[in-house]
Amino acid sequence: MGSVSLYIHIPFCEAKCAYCDFNSHAGLERLYDDYVDALVEEMAIAGGRFSPLRGRTIYLGGGTPTVLGLQQLKRILEGCVQAFVIDEGAEVCCEANPGTVDLRYLESLRHLGVGRLSLGVQSLQDDELQLLGRLHTSAQAREAYEMARLAGFENVNLDLIYALPGQTLKRWRATLEGAIALGPEHLSLYPLSLEEGTPLWRRVQRGEVRATEDELAAEMYLLAEELLEAYGHYEISNWAKPGYESRHNLTYWRNEGYLGFGAGAHSYYERRRSWNVAWPEDYICRLKAGESAREGEEVIETPLEIAETLFMGLRLSEGVEFEGFQHRFGRDLSTLYGPQLGELVAWGLLEVNGRGIRLTPRGRLLGNEVFEKFLPLEPG
Ligand code: SF4
Repeated sequence: MGSVSLYIHIPFCEAKCAYCDFNSHAGLERLYDDYVDALVEEMAIAGGRFSPLRGRTIYLGGGTPTVLGLQQLKRILEGCVQAFVIDEGAEVCCEANPGTVDLRYLESLRHLGVGRLSLGVQSLQDDELQLLGRLHTSAQAREAYEMARLAGFENVNLDLIYALPGQTLKRWRATLEGAIALGPEHLSLYPLSLEEGTPLWRRVQRGEVRATEDELAAEMYLLAEELLEAYGHYEISNWAKPGYESRHNLTYWRNEGYLGFGAGAHSYYERRRSWNVAWPEDYICRLKAGESAREGEEVIETPLEIAETLFMGLRLSEGVEFEGFQHRFGRDLSTLYGPQLGELVAWGLLEVNGRGIRLTPRGRLLGNEVFEKFLPLEPG
């Protein structure tokens, strides 16, 4: 029986953050029930098509899944369990934003079988949260974390963003130290990406606030590495206590199969990548009309699969192992990419040992320069 990770996209938020260009929308409460129906339908169709298929992980992402009512989330999870054979002990994760959950809600999430909570904290400085257009305060973020513990969550991730306009190293340190003091099992730290067209991007364009220089962003990253020494730095932007690495996200980084459900969700299974219509109303209409939600599909040929396996695998501290590569592709990695590997080792960006290849600490800072070297090769 094949196995995949399952991603369920909830494209709704209470308000749109100033930096966000994700597929998420505010003010669409009227669609929630129909959207849940459509999700359940889409999962049932996929479950029937690939039956039987094991689900290793379930990830409710967004958007903000916790804007949905508990009955709605219950229906989604039940639909998932009916459509797929969910592994005993599967990782079931839900994203949540402080301010959208209370203790009763979190307790009910636990009862629904959600074992991992990913909290969108982003910063523990109120002025930074305001700049980002977040609806919550740092006190609410701490409160949400404490409530998660009271509700029985033993696996909590905190998302933080750094390199914010005007952020100093000292203030980033304060957020990091505050987050570490809370004691989460997992931390995801991403530099702010200023996406064209977002309100924060426009403010930078108008000169109201200044984007962070790359050098300062790199210092912030190095500070995180230093302060998070008690955690395992298992992926470029992710740290975890032993055994708490995100199993769902490891599927992406190891370039393994997953099915995505919901508006704009992507799937990658049996060498095909497909994606759904992005707009929630279109998605609902398609499912209601008995049509597929799929908007596009591409077949992933082996050279692209190899390149993607390297791009993604090198994000992990375990890197890419020769044996696993040989087993998956029937090719020797060091022969296939010999000149590139030699160059990257000479530049101090890559380490090659008896087991495989991995980024050096410097390579982690300059990941894009490494990934460029692994563009798809023609079969040879
Ligand atoms: S909560 Fe997340 S998905 Fe929603 S608007 Fe803010 S950044 Fe975007």
